[in-house]
Amino acid sequence: MMKLNKMKLAARVARIKPSPTLAITMKAKALRAEGIDVIGFGAGEPDFDTPSNIKQAAIKAMDEGFTKYTPSGGIDELKDAIINKFQLDNKLTYSRSQIVVSCGAKDTLYNLAQALFEEGDEVIIPSPYWVSYPDIVILAGATPVILETKESDGFKISPEKLERAITKNTRAIVLNSPSNPSGVAYSYDDLEGMAEVVVKKGILVISDDIYEKIVYDDFRFYNIASVGEEMKKLTVVVNGVSKTYAMTGWRIGYAAGPETIISAVTKIQSQNISNPTSISQKAAVEALEGSQDTVFKMVKEFQARRDYIVEKLNNIPGINCMNPQGAFYVFPDVSSLYGMSFNGKKISSSTDLAEYLLDKVDVAVVPGVAFGNDNHIRLSYAMSMENIGEGLRRIGEAVAKLTVS
Ligand SMILES: *Cc1c(COP(=O)(O)O)cnc(C)c1O
Repeated sequence: MMKLNKMKLAARVARIKPSPTLAITMKAKALRAEGIDVIGFGAGEPDFDTPSNIKQAAIKAMDEGFTKYTPSGGIDELKDAIINKFQLDNKLTYSRSQIVVSCGAKDTLYNLAQALFEEGDEVIIPSPYWVSYPDIVILAGATPVILETKESDGFKISPEKLERAITKNTRAIVLNSPSNPSGVAYSYDDLEGMAEVVVKKGILVISDDIYEKIVYDDFRFYNIASVGEEMKKLTVVVNGVSKTYAMTGWRIGYAAGPETIISAVTKIQSQNISNPTSISQKAAVEALEGSQDTVFKMVKEFQARRDYIVEKLNNIPGINCMNPQGAFYVFPDVSSLYGMSFNGKKISSSTDLAEYLLDKVDVAVVPGVAFGNDNHIRLSYAMSMENIGEGLRRIGEAVAKLTVS
């Protein structure tokens, strides 16, 4: 009799990789638990605590017994708060049937991909990209098509470049502005140019706006859907409370878009998550409707840190860092260090450099290759000024020890 391998895993598992950013954050945490004084620039979450008015809303929900299943696509109270947010911030009008709430924006994106894409579909993902986009597309059976951008183009895709990448199989493009990892954000003019191509070709835009509120120097955020009615019909906006309100652990994200797509996502959620956590939904209502003072304070602090980290990085010979407009990451070019060595060991990639920094000076950074660009590394500045200063001092020290071989 043929022996069945009971432990055989589905082929899709081998097609994806574990999230590299989570892996590095965990590795830094593990080293710290061993007593090693690691400076972790890996974190993909604000270092601030969830504001207390938001926590209080969750406590109240629990005390009132709001601890049962909710509708799969979220409670009306939260949908209404989201509708208000879109109206106020983005001048976009949606009805409840065009809104779905999920367990974090990552879950929203996953369910959206499950609802929209299948074998044979292509999804355009500009690089550098957020680590999960390609894998989410692959898990839906579709093919991610990476559209490379260079720092010399400001890490932005042009309308011409987008048009050339579109084939008869293209279903959508994923836009992420401000971007994780580059911090680059698209202006209204950029979006208008892109919208023209999108409407002409009739593809969808999945707009990941998770860093919408974390922008600097009076940068004005726009969503591509606000360019016009035609464009809005082709856009699914994904957003959430994780980054803006320091609520990464609460797991609330949401999408707004055409009713057909939103109801498909809701149907999938009914067989998957059942519903986003009841008490987190109440907390998210307070986040969106309560005082926004903590957001302003957090962004102000992030901006001071950005100014500091960009200046300090550019003072290290061999590192070039552009000034990002948003998010809480910098994505410096470190490629001029490639080819140099320490004790006979050559640095020839972002992974080599990240390993060297961790081994030599206990500094954790994320290699750019994880985001589809091997010439860069990503540093999160979601940490105190003191730690940023100490971390950069160590990086400077490690870089100074490299020799031309
Ligand atoms: C953090 C992040 C997300 C996921 O947010 P959650 O709501 O915590 O799931 C989505 N997109 C980008 C670009 C992110 O950086």
